[in-house]
Amino acid sequence: MEPKPKLLVVEDELAIRTGLVDVFTFHGFEVDFAEDGEIGLNKALSGNFDMILLDVMLPKKNGYDICSAIREQDRQQPVIMLTARNTDEDIIHGLSLGADDYVAKPFSITQLVLRVQAVLRRSGFDNKPDNHIHLSNGPSIDTVNLCAEIDNETIAFTKREMEILQYLHRHNDRPVPREELLHKVWGYEQDLNIETRTVDIHIAKLRRKLESDPKQPAFLQTVRGGGYKLLSGQG
Ligand code: CA
Repeated sequence: MEPKPKLLVVEDELAIRTGLVDVFTFHGFEVDFAEDGEIGLNKALSGNFDMILLDVMLPKKNGYDICSAIREQDRQQPVIMLTARNTDEDIIHGLSLGADDYVAKPFSITQLVLRVQAVLRRSGFDNKPDNHIHLSNGPSIDTVNLCAEIDNETIAFTKREMEILQYLHRHNDRPVPREELLHKVWGYEQDLNIETRTVDIHIAKLRRKLESDPKQPAFLQTVRGGGYKLLSGQG
């Protein structure tokens, strides 16, 4: 079963809300909704959604405030703002608060669906997950069976090692700091002064498995002052 993207619609106008719920359900989304800003914010902060469609003019709390609050907690959460206000200032304001995109009412449903799908793709949500990490000019790693064929040998990975590789792969456009790995992979609280050596030990083990010369890594590189970067391809 392919995972359905989970969408939250925060919209107070019944007709628009119902229309959006129907259309996105039809397009294969799992849709939840909120009728006012307070409920919308609570649901949005639950972290359960792949995408949030956010009206601006809402009872109790407006969409701009909700968007800022979401961004304070989660910089990655995809948000598209919906509004009748479409002056340049409004658009810039919404985007400066961290919205991923902006659709002015009245909008065409087809346009909106396309925008949502585009933002979802950019955010890394994939309807057809590829269960392999393809190292650049190198072997492919099977993320389900936790193994890779390297030099005619089957190399096995631990679950933790695979989580590290998957996290680095999802963020392969940049080096990932050790602290971020500890937070996102190990689940340690942020801002704790934790020994980052545990990350280095795991990286060293991974290099012994992946690299023909672990001292000159071709795939799992150290970026000075930045962290670790995986050289892998998209899909
Ligand atoms: Ca409204």
